[in-house]
Amino acid sequence: MTGSVDLDPVREELLAWLESAWEPELSLLEWRRRLAASGWATPTWPARWGGRDLPASASSVVTRTLAKFGAVGPPEGVGMTLAAPTLLEHASDDLNDLLLPPTVTGEVSWCQLFSEPGAGSDLAGLTTKAELSDGEWRISGQKVWNTSAHHADYGLLVARTDWDVPKHRGLTYFVLPMKQPGVEVRPLRQANGHASFNEVFFTDARIPADHVVGEVGGGWGVALTTLAHERRTTIASAPLGRHDGRVWREATEEALHLRAPYKWYPQRAGRVDLLVPQARATGAAADPAVRQEIAKAITLAWTARWTAERAAAARKLGKPPGPEGSLGKLASSNVARASARAHAAIAHGAAMLAGRDGPLDGIIAEVLISVPAVSIAGGTDEIQRNIIGERVLGLPKDPTVDTSIPFRDVPKNRS
Ligand SMILES: Cc1cc2nc3c(=O)[nH]c(=O)nc-3n(C[C@H](O)[C@H](O)[C@H](O)COP(=O)(O)OP(=O)(O)OC[C@H]3O[C@@H](n4cnc5c(N)ncnc54)[C@H](O)[C@@H]3O)c2cc1C
Repeated sequence: MTGSVDLDPVREELLAWLESAWEPELSLLEWRRRLAASGWATPTWPARWGGRDLPASASSVVTRTLAKFGAVGPPEGVGMTLAAPTLLEHASDDLNDLLLPPTVTGEVSWCQLFSEPGAGSDLAGLTTKAELSDGEWRISGQKVWNTSAHHADYGLLVARTDWDVPKHRGLTYFVLPMKQPGVEVRPLRQANGHASFNEVFFTDARIPADHVVGEVGGGWGVALTTLAHERRTTIASAPLGRHDGRVWREATEEALHLRAPYKWYPQRAGRVDLLVPQARATGAAADPAVRQEIAKAITLAWTARWTAERAAAARKLGKPPGPEGSLGKLASSNVARASARAHAAIAHGAAMLAGRDGPLDGIIAEVLISVPAVSIAGGTDEIQRNIIGERVLGLPKDPTVDTSIPFRDVPKNRS
């Protein structure tokens, strides 16, 4: 639902409901089921799927009201940010009935199985294969860079079901049950010491026939929905509430578990917040060249924040994700890089010392080594520039040679 409505009555109705419904000694699951049944877990979803048909602008009001009251909300992670919106838009009623309720209560968690060793930016060139046999889909192939795949119950999988049509038309979008013998998840350790990603290998993995999202062969359009939501998602690490009771204890445990792969994301974003304090603490603030670097990073960060606020205001009015997603994504790369440069100027050689030997117990070294990830994850800088060039500026499209011939005939890497 779109449009602007008076949200005071929404806040009041929720507060009245919380007064009678909140019980801090329930189990987390009992509380989430109660919250979901009331529609307050997903206020902007259609009533058919447990929502309240409220406009997009109600979402932040409900989140803030829950937090202020001291009640636990729905779970964080890929389930609510990517899986649920994609399913709501494209999945069958039966699949939604099966998967949305346990996603809202946090009983199941999700990962995204898109990228492959030979298909990242060129996602439509993926070669993981899905074949229908004896009433179920059988999957073989490999994915990579899959955040949280090591603990997910379900994966959002795009696989090739037809090799005889152009590449974008032969893809199908599936919900893959992760905990099965045909799925092997191998963690990857990064240069910064964390292991947030995985390689995922499929050897005759099985998917029930009805776990297709959208149409067979229509996977590209469904994947675009997920990617649009990914570009507008920021990893929210809202402070965990300091509250007593079983619901909060279990919610804190759940959040720490779900947030573990994202522990280094503040460093990945460049830690602009540490620039001035570090410059002051080290005396580097007296150096005019360092001050220039700091000013550059902070100016970029502020303008990026204003663009994000404009995008958020548009969303509040119920407008679909627009070009601000790509502008914001590119801006966050520029901010992170500028901030890393300024941190290096402040700390000099010590910036390279990891762990307790380095400034701020290694945080600065982690910044330097982690910021390149911003320019890659969720679409590289070059791809964002292509999108801006084509969709925002209306420039001619990138020339392509492989979108009109059968995918079988497209030259591929041998890997
Ligand atoms: C932190 C992080 C988290 C991630 N999480 C996930 C996840 O959960 N699930 C998942 O499926 N994937 C995930 N990824 C993978 C990510 O989506 C891919 O890494 C990304 O799409 C780039 O693909 P690639 O690594 O194959 O690089 P490539 O596509 O091979 O690109 C290599 C270089 O070529 C450039 N290039 C490619 N095509 C063009 C073009 N047309 N025009 C100009 N330049 C071009 C790129 O910009 C890049 O510089 C994650 C990656 C990171 C870094």
